[in-house]
Amino acid sequence: MVMASTILVVEDEPAIAELIAVNLSFAGHKVLRAADSISADTLLRAEKPDLIVLDWMLPGLSGVQFAKRLRSDEKTKDVPIIMLTARSEESDKIEGLESGADDYVTKPFSPKELQARIKAVLRRRIPALADHAVDICGLKLDPQTHRVLGNGKALELGPTEFRLLHFFMTHPERVHSRSQLLDQVWGDHVYVEERTVDVHIRRLRQSLAPSAHDRHVETVRGSGYRFTAQPLTQ
Ligand code: CA
Repeated sequence: MVMASTILVVEDEPAIAELIAVNLSFAGHKVLRAADSISADTLLRAEKPDLIVLDWMLPGLSGVQFAKRLRSDEKTKDVPIIMLTARSEESDKIEGLESGADDYVTKPFSPKELQARIKAVLRRRIPALADHAVDICGLKLDPQTHRVLGNGKALELGPTEFRLLHFFMTHPERVHSRSQLLDQVWGDHVYVEERTVDVHIRRLRQSLAPSAHDRHVETVRGSGYRFTAQPLTQ
């Protein structure tokens, strides 16, 4: 489950815009709607969305031209763009991606397919946003060097445990269910069983034990796991 995001939908066909908006709202996202680049600009001045769904064929400035402009603007250059194209324009998809779109979805598409693409694009963006080192209670994780220090001493973590700890430390004090952790840490590997999470939690705790940081990874009975700065056990 991706956290609620603000998504700007730029689409001039009302039925398609409505279909997308209803589905994204239902998935918990805040949806902004524009029928062309001019009204999109107005919305963008007021609020920066987490992602833009942009139709290729728009009245006035085309989706490709608008994407290029968004990419060259300091304010919007890092906002991911998913382009909507009709099948007849499929051969032009390269142009769409070169214009700065992160992905494209071909019409007709199912709302489920679009949601999956949105999820994937948002997820890819997360590491870029959370590239700085995190430090909680003497436990320090640096995503750039891939090092974890417990009270200044290097701790050995496997790649999955590293990603798990990174997610925990950037989302502390919240209970995450096993399926949420699978989604956030394992990504699209839907065939991973939920008990796999328990195995990696166990390994993570073992890795953190030398500096006694294992107690910061708490089991919340019946719900999942939580990383806390104030562990109950000493
Ligand atoms: Ca259109």
